[in-house]
Amino acid sequence: MTKMHDVVIVGGGLVGGLTALLLAKGGVQAVVLDAAPVLDAEKVLATPNPRVLALSQATIHLLEQVGVWDKLARHMPYTGMQVYNQNGYGEIVFGQASERSPIREQWLGSMVEPSILNLAIQQQLQAQLQDYRTQAKVTRIEQTPQGWRIDLANGERLQTKLVIGADGANSFVREQAMIDLDVLDYQQIAMSCAIRTTQPHQHVARQIFLPTGPLAYLPMVSLDEQSQGHWQSIVWSLPSDFAEEYAALDDKSFMHLLTQSSLHMLGEVTAVASRAHFPLKARAAVHYVKDGLALVGDAAHVIHPLAGQGVNIGCLDAAVLCDVLLQDLARGSWAHIQTLRRYEHSRKGQNQAMMHSMSMIGWLEKTTLTPVVWARNQGLKWVEQTPLFKDLFMQQANGLAQLKSTRYAKGRAVD
Ligand SMILES: Cc1cc2nc3c(=O)[nH]c(=O)nc-3n(C[C@H](O)[C@H](O)[C@H](O)COP(=O)(O)OP(=O)(O)OC[C@H]3O[C@@H](n4cnc5c(N)ncnc54)[C@H](O)[C@@H]3O)c2cc1C
Repeated sequence: MTKMHDVVIVGGGLVGGLTALLLAKGGVQAVVLDAAPVLDAEKVLATPNPRVLALSQATIHLLEQVGVWDKLARHMPYTGMQVYNQNGYGEIVFGQASERSPIREQWLGSMVEPSILNLAIQQQLQAQLQDYRTQAKVTRIEQTPQGWRIDLANGERLQTKLVIGADGANSFVREQAMIDLDVLDYQQIAMSCAIRTTQPHQHVARQIFLPTGPLAYLPMVSLDEQSQGHWQSIVWSLPSDFAEEYAALDDKSFMHLLTQSSLHMLGEVTAVASRAHFPLKARAAVHYVKDGLALVGDAAHVIHPLAGQGVNIGCLDAAVLCDVLLQDLARGSWAHIQTLRRYEHSRKGQNQAMMHSMSMIGWLEKTTLTPVVWARNQGLKWVEQTPLFKDLFMQQANGLAQLKSTRYAKGRAVD
């Protein structure tokens, strides 16, 4: 007879991996199935990734709890954030610039290459889990009277009381569970690459709102010590036709365009590496849970990269889901539908609010309607001049407030 597992997590990326490690810390061993192969550590470390994830304080705190943070080979803390309009009116500044390596208390968050993060997660899953499988592609999921049956491409079959779908934006779990998806096509493309600038970033993440969309300069680690402090990862959201035109430019013309478009934000752009682009779509699962099933991370929601919050809200999903599951376990039950609904109730509204505000900001920043432009610039000025509002904004962005009601709240001893 096939063994009945308590929980199987499909997807061992950042969100699935974190979920498994938080459960393991609470005494529950999940089976983790990931279609991707084991990463080649030497290759990952030697290859700079042009994209970075802006990890919030809450995400860093959660990664520390499960021993992943100490395993990160490199990351670039940021101590300041600067957001402004191209026209020069309206600007918000959080934190401050740092000339040298900042101390931990000064960090607002940190920039990490996805491959470096995935490597650390994988190493910790290998160390902590009894059943972590790579190159394990799930090909069928079916509900049974006892729970869920999961078929793998290699012919194996698993049975579980709870399946957690952490399998990314094109979630197969969501599709097999027949959970509908709302999709909003922004008709935009995000261009990303790594660039070197003549002026140093001084640990500040910068975003400038152009009439075509936001352009972000995110500090990143340089593998060449001489250029340390001068490399940034950029995310430039553009209408599709602009992106196609810019993608066709040679590197020299692209660097010139970037220098001009960024209003010489950090002087001249003198090098560019690994230009890539992604279509931008917001996606929201209509339900996060079903009997014996929960979706977390990009499987449940994908938001505009404007605020760099995608993976952070996914990590908050992981924390809240593990918290309610472990609470129930302590009371002698497991993955009851009411428990799963508590998770959905806690996370769905917050994620949707974040998604809508990103869409709204995107629209506000693109508009040329005079009253809206005026209100937008006044709004930025008003936020900048109101310390209370700035604090609230920061608390929302660092994610720590959303952890407060869970066992993972900063300063609380974790079970
Ligand atoms: C241009 C751009 C910039 C971004 N910048 C930021 C940022 O600055 N900050 C931020 O927080 N977020 C950012 N994001 C979003 C962030 O990248 C995602 O939110 C994050 O990677 C989602 O993590 P996840 O674990 O949910 O999914 P994923 O990282 O997609 O992991 C899914 C896992 O599931 C596995 N899988 C898939 N299908 C199967 C299957 N059938 N069987 C078994 N395994 C399967 C895959 O192998 C993978 O390991 C950005 C996104 C874009 C496009």
